[in-house]
Amino acid sequence: MSQMHPRMKREQKTVELMIALYCRDHHHTKRELCHECRELVEYTRLRLKNCPFQENKTTCGNCPIHCYTPKLRDKIRVVMRYAGPRIAWRHPILAIGHMIDGRRKEPGSKKKNKE
Ligand SMILES: [Zn+2]
Repeated sequence: MSQMHPRMKREQKTVELMIALYCRDHHHTKRELCHECRELVEYTRLRLKNCPFQENKTTCGNCPIHCYTPKLRDKIRVVMRYAGPRIAWRHPILAIGHMIDGRRKEPGSKKKNKE
């Protein structure tokens, strides 16, 4: 975990913040996440860790590989839809970073290299 690329760390942090925000507002938790949301966090950690693209990845929402199970994918989607706009207020730097990452073309797609 400590070896994680900063890009991946940020992604993880963003996701966790969103889940925490969602949990607090929907499951009325205070500091701790509810069991369900904790599981979701664990799951996203695992997915990011196993992501074949790592720091070159686009955001999960734009990724061509849908590695989440349909059930959890729906869940995370709901969380993002709710927390995405809200987090932009509180953590603008994270939100902007996430937006920029989302513009990246997925690796392996045809791209014009300007090297
Ligand atoms: Zn929850």
